[in-house]
Amino acid sequence: MVMGDMEMNTDLLVIGGGPGGYAGAFRAADLGLDVIMVDTNQRPGGVCLHTGCIPSKTLLQLAELLLDAREAKSRGICFGEPQLDLAAMRGWQERVVDTMAEGLVRLTGHRGILRVQGLARFASATAVRLEGAEISRIRFKKAIIATGSRPLGLPGVAFVPGGRIMDAAAALRLPDIPKTLLVVGGGYVGLELGSIYGALGSQVTVMEQQERLLAQVDPDLVEPLQRRLATLFADILLKVEIDGLLEENGAVRVSFRHKGIKKQGCFDRVLVAVGRVPNSDGLGLEHTAVTLDSRGFIQINERQETADPHLYAVGDVAGGVMLAHKATREGRVAAEVCSGKNGAFDARIIPAVVYTDPQISWCGLTEQQALAENIPYGVQKFPWKYSGRAQTMGMTDGLTKLLTEHTTGRILGVGITGRHAEGIISEAALAIEMGALAEDLALTIHPHPTLSETVAEAAEIFLGSPTHVLPSRKKSA
Ligand code: FAD
Repeated sequence: MVMGDMEMNTDLLVIGGGPGGYAGAFRAADLGLDVIMVDTNQRPGGVCLHTGCIPSKTLLQLAELLLDAREAKSRGICFGEPQLDLAAMRGWQERVVDTMAEGLVRLTGHRGILRVQGLARFASATAVRLEGAEISRIRFKKAIIATGSRPLGLPGVAFVPGGRIMDAAAALRLPDIPKTLLVVGGGYVGLELGSIYGALGSQVTVMEQQERLLAQVDPDLVEPLQRRLATLFADILLKVEIDGLLEENGAVRVSFRHKGIKKQGCFDRVLVAVGRVPNSDGLGLEHTAVTLDSRGFIQINERQETADPHLYAVGDVAGGVMLAHKATREGRVAAEVCSGKNGAFDARIIPAVVYTDPQISWCGLTEQQALAENIPYGVQKFPWKYSGRAQTMGMTDGLTKLLTEHTTGRILGVGITGRHAEGIISEAALAIEMGALAEDLALTIHPHPTLSETVAEAAEIFLGSPTHVLPSRKKSA
C-alpha cells in the first residue's frame, strides 16, 4: 500500500463493512491481497451487527425470557410481575454489539486490513473519492461493492430521527414501551420487532398488505406462529393498504383501507417494516460500467462479477435473498475470484430463520413453490405433539416437514416451526447440500430426547414406518 498525502493505492478496495464486506475483506487478506475497507460507520459490522440481526436477537432473547417466565406459572414456578428496566436492557444490547464490533476491529487489524471511515463514491472504475475521511481518494485494482440496503419507507412518510414513525433501527433503540404500537408489514422484521414490544407490554397491531403473514413461507408452517401471535398481539389485519401516517399531538394518526373499507386509527408509535432498497444510488456508479436491475440492485454473475471488469458486488446491494449469511458467502466468493481463484456462488440452498416464538426456519424447495412451478414432490410432516422433547418444553405446537423426491426420497426442502428451529435447520441444509436421502436422515441416530429427532421421524414417515406416529395404510402395506 502506498500512502500519499491525500491519496492511497491498494489491490482491493472493499466498500461497506457489513457481513458481505468484512467477510470479503478478511478472505482477500488471508489470500495475500492488500486490502482497504471503507465504511461510513466507525466500526465494521454493517446493518447486521449495529441495527439488524444482533440487536434484534438480543432483545428477542429477553422477550423469550419474559414470556417463558410468565408461562412457568402454569408449571409450578412463579416469578411474580417482572420489573422492566429499559436503560439496563439498552445497556445489555449495547454491550453485545460492542463486544462483537471490537472483535471485528481486532480481526481487521490483525489481518493488516486498513479501515477507513468515510463515504465512498466512484470517480472512475479504478478510483473512489471519500467524503468525511482523512483520505480524499483511493485508487484500486479491484473493488468489492458491499454497501447493503436501507429501509423502504411509505410514500410521503419520512423517518424523522426521534419521531414516532420508526424504521427497524429506531425501534430497536427501545425509545420507550408505547401503550399502542402499529407494525406496518407482516414480514419477518415486523413480526420479530412486534414480538419484542408485545412481550414488553405494548398492545401491538400488525397491518399487512398481503392475504397472510410471511407470504413466502408455507402456510402450514406459519399457522402455529399465527395462533401464538393472536394471543400476544392486540390485532392482526390482513389485506390492508395504508393511505397515510401523520404524527400529531404525541401520537400517529393512521388512515388505511382494510379489505377495501376506509378506516382510521391512532397509535403511540408506528414501526414501518415493508422491505428494503439497495444502497446503489449516490455511489457514482455512472462512472463505471456497472449495471442495475429495475429495482436498483447491482447485476452480477455467479462469480459476483458486475458488468465492469474491475468491480464485484455482494450482499444486499446485489439482490437475491437479503440475509447476512448469503452476504458473507458472496463476500468470500468475490474475494476468491479477485485473487485469481476459481470461486463461484454455487450453494444449493440458503436457509432462512424467523426468530419469533415459535421460530420458523426453512431451506430448499417450499411446498408453495413446488405447486407454483409444477415440481413433483412428496411431503412428510411430523407434528411436534409427538416429540418427547417438545412435550418437556411445553412447546408442542410445532411442525417438521420434509419435501422429498417421490422415487428416491432425496431431500428437496425442509421447513420447521417451533422453539429452536434455528438450530435444527442446519442439518437439513447439510442434507440438501450433500444430496442426502430421507433414508440417510432416518438412519442417522439422533440423540433422545431432542427436537432434532423430529427430522429423523419425518424421514421415517417417508420410509413408511415412523416410530411415534402411526404409518399411513398405503406406506405400511
Ligand atoms: P450491510 O450490513 O447493510 O452493510 C453495508 C455497510 O456499507 C453499512 O455499514 C453502510 O454504512 C456501508 N455503506 C453504504 N454505502 C457506503 C458508501 N458509499 N461508502 C462507505 N460505506 C458505505 N439477516 C440475517 O441473516 N439474519 C437475521 O436475523 C437478520 N435480522 C435482521 C433484522 C433487521 C431488523 C434487519 C434490518 C435486517 C436483518 N437481517 C438479518 C438482514 C441483514 O442485516 C442484511 O442482510 C445484511 O446486513 C446485509 O449485509 P451487507 O454486507 O450486504 O450490508
